[in-house]
Amino acid sequence: MPSEELKSGRSINLTPKESSECSMHSATMCPAFGSLRVTMRIEGLVPVLVGAVGCLYGLDFVSHFYASNKPIVSPSLTTRELVETDLTDKVIGIIKEVVEHENPQMIAVMSLCTPETSGLHLELLPRKLGRTEIIPMRVPAYGVPTHAEAKDVAISQIIKRVGENMAAEGKTSDGQLDGLAVIGEVFPTDPVQLGVAVSRMGVRLRTALPHKDISAYYDAPKAKVAAMLHPFYDRTVKELNSFGVQPLYSAPVGAEGTYSWLKNLGLLMQLPNPEIEAIADEEAQKVADELDQNRLDGVKIMIAGYEGSELLFARLMHEAGAKVCYVSTSIKEGPGTKDDAAWLRRRNIPLLFRKRHEDDLEALDEMAPDLVVGSSNIEAVAKRRGIPAVYYTNIVAGRPILLAAGVRPLVDQMKLILSQLNTYRNMRDFFADVDDDDHVREPLKVGI
Ligand code: SF4
Repeated sequence: MPSEELKSGRSINLTPKESSECSMHSATMCPAFGSLRVTMRIEGLVPVLVGAVGCLYGLDFVSHFYASNKPIVSPSLTTRELVETDLTDKVIGIIKEVVEHENPQMIAVMSLCTPETSGLHLELLPRKLGRTEIIPMRVPAYGVPTHAEAKDVAISQIIKRVGENMAAEGKTSDGQLDGLAVIGEVFPTDPVQLGVAVSRMGVRLRTALPHKDISAYYDAPKAKVAAMLHPFYDRTVKELNSFGVQPLYSAPVGAEGTYSWLKNLGLLMQLPNPEIEAIADEEAQKVADELDQNRLDGVKIMIAGYEGSELLFARLMHEAGAKVCYVSTSIKEGPGTKDDAAWLRRRNIPLLFRKRHEDDLEALDEMAPDLVVGSSNIEAVAKRRGIPAVYYTNIVAGRPILLAAGVRPLVDQMKLILSQLNTYRNMRDFFADVDDDDHVREPLKVGI
């Protein structure tokens, strides 16, 4: 059983827990949010969500909290209606109404936990009405455990439809694949930086998914290589593979990551090795120069997120001199995580896939980090203890991370958070009269 020795002499169990051991403390939000987030940003696509009213309320709130600017269409289903209505007919009726009123290019029909168990047959939905493609997306939490993986469901289902339409029209790519497609939500300047770097190798950046234009989903299968910047897009890889597109895993993060990623891209693109070697070396040197100037030497950092990009961030932090004492993620281990996981394990950095909240709590107790970058539930616990802590998605995903331009913003941000240690401790002391269950034991004295 893999384990990691701690300073205290105890060890932390790094084996994913059996489901019977799971105490069901979710380390991800409702998974359907992932597919909703992708589809709500596509212009010309209407998202139809089929679920219980409570689920819809939460998903509607959180998607608009994240600045989505279009409404969700949904049959409002009470518990009684969910079991007594012919759900499939009801959903088909709604689709027809949407087509009649909006005539969109696509409708994505997302089925949540309850309808999936109470008789919704997505396979009976029409494939197309007029010009409107109807694309089913099954995202119940028991089938798609994280919202990251639900993004994969959304993107792969759209690309699958593109392939089916091409096959129906007798079109094939005829091996004329060219350029690079980038898959994975990253900071908006990252694909720009990437485009500049790969253009030095004569490689054209075709498109980046998820994208607001439906045309980008038609363009991605024409690429020779798809850079899977995030590791959970297994279904999308499978669909792109059916067109002959080769996946390239990991990302140009940190000096070593940049070198190996560019080299691997050159290999997949079948470019002349000496030239690629020289460009990979130069780009890696630029990252190394930035890392020389931006250090986190000796900072003990715990990284506990849920979408898989934690592995890349951990690599960068390690190269910046930090002591990465624990990395956990909610996604499963797979082809997309293989290289980064091996890199971290070679450096004896504890790494846990499909983690539970309790695993993170245990690590927080044992590791005593200087800084926690984690999901909202673990950063909240760390803050209560006066440990500088931030929410992974807002802080890391909200900044560039690729190539040389990805070093300084993240290192600076970590330094800024660490510089506020006293503020975190003052907050802990201020709320010290709130007990563990968040019940106030006595009125707070705020000096007014
Ligand atoms: S019941 Fe399922 S669909 Fe509803 S909020 Fe929970 S995880 Fe999401």
